[in-house]
Amino acid sequence: MTPPPPPPPMLLPLLLLPLLSPGPALGLLPPVPSSSSSKGSVGGKGSVGGGGGPRPIDPAGWPQRFPAKEHCSRCGLCETALVSRVSDACAFLGPGMGRIDALEAEVHGRGRDGTDLAWGGGDRAAVPHAEEGRFGVLHRPVALARGTEREAQWTGVVTGIAAAVLEAGMVDAVVCVAAGDGDGDGDGDGADGGGDWSSPEPILARTVAEVMRGRGVKPSLAPSLRVLDEVRADPAVRRLLFCGVGCAVQALRSVEADLDLDELYVLGTNCADNSPTPEAARNFLRDGAGIGDVGGVRGYEFMQDFRVHVKEEGGGYTKLPYFSLPGTIAEASIAPSCLACFDYVNALADVVVGYMGAPLAPGGRMDRSSQTLTVRNGRGARMVDAAIRAGRVTVVAERAGGSGSHEALASATVAKDAAVMAITGGDIPERGMPRPLGELMATVLGGIGPKGIAFARYSLDYHVLRNHLHTLHEWGEDRARSAMPDYARSIVDRYVREDAQFQAVREAVLAKGRKKREGRP
Ligand code: FAD
Ligand code: SF4
Ligand code: SF4
Repeated sequence: MTPPPPPPPMLLPLLLLPLLSPGPALGLLPPVPSSSSSKGSVGGKGSVGGGGGPRPIDPAGWPQRFPAKEHCSRCGLCETALVSRVSDACAFLGPGMGRIDALEAEVHGRGRDGTDLAWGGGDRAAVPHAEEGRFGVLHRPVALARGTEREAQWTGVVTGIAAAVLEAGMVDAVVCVAAGDGDGDGDGDGADGGGDWSSPEPILARTVAEVMRGRGVKPSLAPSLRVLDEVRADPAVRRLLFCGVGCAVQALRSVEADLDLDELYVLGTNCADNSPTPEAARNFLRDGAGIGDVGGVRGYEFMQDFRVHVKEEGGGYTKLPYFSLPGTIAEASIAPSCLACFDYVNALADVVVGYMGAPLAPGGRMDRSSQTLTVRNGRGARMVDAAIRAGRVTVVAERAGGSGSHEALASATVAKDAAVMAITGGDIPERGMPRPLGELMATVLGGIGPKGIAFARYSLDYHVLRNHLHTLHEWGEDRARSAMPDYARSIVDRYVREDAQFQAVREAVLAKGRKKREGRP
């Protein structure tokens, strides 16, 4: 395949939508907030919250009172008695996501085969474990699937699997994220001023009707693990399905034994660049995408066609090229944790659903396009098979295809990324491209850029490289390196070795970091 040429230099500044917050350096690890020690220290089922056990952290103190401070992704663990396990479990303390390698072998029975990172693109169908280097342990090749849920984010593959697993009696309850009212009780009653599609409210769903409340992505950090105290307190919950993003799944895997469950199934989504709060997500739509009636929005995604698609009540869409968004909107729109994240693909879930490697349906509607389905182990296969038997999910292709190489575009994107320029001192554009030019740019890149699974490789490499630069600046070389799983180190090392543009940007970030540590401007 011919590599797609990088976009014309004059257009590069627009290539990158994502912004970033430089955020204060973490420095030394913060103290763990409680003294109670490891497994089972807060008792098994029915004994949560008694006596002088560890005290959950009040969410009103987020992020400063949370151990990971600015880089806390608010996974919810610290809002439970299991806060005692935070030092080992948190994805942003100590080696953080560097723990994924060992956990992956524990959870799936083997680590991923990272020998082939599909450099230069090409069809890898005949290469065993070809995509594992980037996409994690594969029990089956990454497939394409569709669900049947009308009010879902895409076609409801996630909700279809969760509902089928519950209906089949495989679990007693499902943890998912409903649209809440922000008052923390999970009833969505609007007690604090009205229900809101953008406010995540983790719930323990015991019926299919409750599982349906999870439909749709609420685009901000969700404290999914907050319900673990409820799980532990309820003797009727012996088998659990947890739906969540990578940082929460990593913490969950680290405390799995403390839950004293007979069975735990984990259904993950891909995840990148989440908003810190519902308010930040709404501001992005209002100030970045120019949506007047944010209350009429039902969801949005950054799509494979280089446009953000905003789904409106009634089924309409507004689509805006990335290149027409103001660069300055990114800083407030992406949580600092997500700039230090190396688990886009949710490596520790049993099965993962996303969209970045799937082709868009004609017309580009997310509610008609297929989604990627990544099965990592036998538990994941049983979940998917239950959903297929129930008619809730259909596999439309056993293997996701794709074409094009991605390396030049990933490197060009990083070099002009607003988060990176905030470190190196580049000019972040206050205004995006004029709309017609932005549309042209999106159309051209959509035409010549990587497609399908190759687009997913592009997106993954871009996030790994950008986040490496962020952590390098925030934490210095040693900690930044140890906080990456092996696959991310391999990707970074390859660009350092072979990509002059990335080498130059990395050098600029290192120089800024040295100055910062020496207290020089
Ligand atoms: P639905 O059936 O509508 O179910 C949605 C599921 O998402 C439910 O299980 C619900 O519990 C869960 N959920 C909703 N809000 C949150 C939240 N804030 N945190 C955790 N879980 C939540 N895919 C990509 O390929 N690239 C991305 O960059 C990407 N970013 C994502 C960011 C977030 C915060 C989330 C939650 C998902 C992201 N995804 C991404 C996955 C994608 O957006 C869809 O979730 C996925 O394709 C499933 O669509 P669906 O129609 O099957 O989901
Ligand atoms: Fe606690 Fe989770 Fe935040 Fe880490 S990310 S500090 S475990 S709430
Ligand atoms: Fe968590 Fe990473 Fe998603 Fe941010 S991008 S919410 S840190 S999984």
